[in-house]
Amino acid sequence: MAKYTGADCRICRREGCKLFLKGERCTSKKCAMERRTNVPGVHGAARKKATEYSLQLREKQKVKKAYGLLEKQFRTYYDMANNQRTGIVGENMLSLLERRLDNVVYRMGIGASRKESRQIVNHGHITVNGRCVNIPSYLVKVDDVIAIKENKKELPMFKELKDVKVVMPKWLEFNTEKLTGKINALPQRDDIDLNIREHLIIELYSK
Ligand code: SF4
Repeated sequence: MAKYTGADCRICRREGCKLFLKGERCTSKKCAMERRTNVPGVHGAARKKATEYSLQLREKQKVKKAYGLLEKQFRTYYDMANNQRTGIVGENMLSLLERRLDNVVYRMGIGASRKESRQIVNHGHITVNGRCVNIPSYLVKVDDVIAIKENKKELPMFKELKDVKVVMPKWLEFNTEKLTGKINALPQRDDIDLNIREHLIIELYSK
């Protein structure tokens, strides 16, 4: 599968906002957005008039990169949201993205970034309702129990979790002693802290 191998901080600078792609570094003074906010590249500093299309495209790219997805994968979430019979398409799409297992692992504070969380899932360290799930795109449901696999709980990276402070969204809970968490509800629009104008993405895909 194709994957982006460039510098993560370039993505934030391109989109003009922090996307928290690098864990601890993102909240430190080393964050590239604290030092250089111009768009990367030779013409980065040049001002260009934003067109309607460019605004829509940039918003889509921002969300896609924040969740670490490729175009085809991202489009699938739009199609799924568009096919839902209830709710607003943009909000449904964001809710689906939030329900990805790699995102849930990140939100629970198990991984420092979505990228690291995806690796944790890929390596088979996570169980859902007692069964090992190594698919990052797995969509969690209400009442699902997410846990670190029993024989991995002694790994230093998981033992250190009790010292990690995480602002947990209200739809999730995670016990750092037992290394077990639960999905209390489906994520709502106000649970998503990224500054996203999802209507621009919907306008782009509806053309
Ligand atoms: Fe983005 Fe994190 Fe790099 Fe800052 S440190 S620019 S938030 S990836």
